[in-house]
Amino acid sequence: MRVAKRVLVVEDNELNLKLFCDLLRAHGFETEPVRDGREAVAKARAFLPDLIITDIQLPHMTGLELIQMLKADARLRTVPIMAVTAYSGRDDEDRVRTAGANAYVTKPISVVRFVGEVRALLPVEEVRRVEGESDNDTPPLPSPRT
Ligand code: MN
Repeated sequence: MRVAKRVLVVEDNELNLKLFCDLLRAHGFETEPVRDGREAVAKARAFLPDLIITDIQLPHMTGLELIQMLKADARLRTVPIMAVTAYSGRDDEDRVRTAGANAYVTKPISVVRFVGEVRALLPVEEVRRVEGESDNDTPPLPSPRT
């Protein structure tokens, strides 16, 4: 049985939050919405996402600070992160990537780009490994004829 990949979505804008979660669910992902960056690390520890999508312009703490906190957490630092943000220059993208984001998508999002980046970070091969399939796809030997 295929277990749905889990995506934690951190976004304070209600319309964007709904858009991202609707898109992800339509593509078979399980989602956990978070509206306040201050709750994101605790939610991530509980939900154990396969991917974290975060806005950068958040109240109370920036997405950049959130990425740094996630990367400082032993259990969460390997979870890929996709930043979704209003483009504010090459320096901004560099800062976000240096902090540890694996992908950077600008708002307003292109649906194709958004889904493509998510798929790139959650390749099908990983799903197979999680399902416990062997790397070797050789079919079992036929039983000897007697
Ligand atoms: Mn925001």
